[in-house]
Amino acid sequence: MSENCIFCGIVAGTIPSTQVASDDRAIAFMDINPATRGHLLVIPRTHSTDLREASAEDLTAATLLAQSLVGRVIERLDADGANLLSCIGADAWQSVFHTHLHVIPRYKDDPLQLPWHPTPGDLDEINATAATLT
Ligand code: 5GP
Ligand code: ZN
Repeated sequence: MSENCIFCGIVAGTIPSTQVASDDRAIAFMDINPATRGHLLVIPRTHSTDLREASAEDLTAATLLAQSLVGRVIERLDADGANLLSCIGADAWQSVFHTHLHVIPRYKDDPLQLPWHPTPGDLDEINATAATLT
């Protein structure tokens, strides 16, 4: 439990949330600013700032819960697909610093768009970057 963490408050029940699923390591609840109908957040019960800090057990539990919710939004909300998203760092749009996975149901004609415009990259640059990462 981390003081002043909204999501720890949700786990503790001191901050209200609309939960839809849980197990002993993770819980899933509705996002209050839904990108689409049924937008969910899945969080480990144990506090970690972001995915880098979360334990393998917590990440496994959160990912498996997210997997089951993807199936549920497709079945019960008639979604056509879903996006999973985890933001790591403020520059990557993270605004709540407790590890979470967004489960965003997608519908054929929903207004969401990719936030970048895919254009071919420079192959030398791509390969040089790969070398740095290998
Ligand atoms: P991030 O921007 O860190 O990737 O995602 C944080 C998410 O938490 C946002 O989509 C935001 O709408 C959601 N959120 C922030 N505060 C609350 C809250 O008090 N309750 C719920 N249910 N969601 C919240
Ligand atoms: Zn927390």
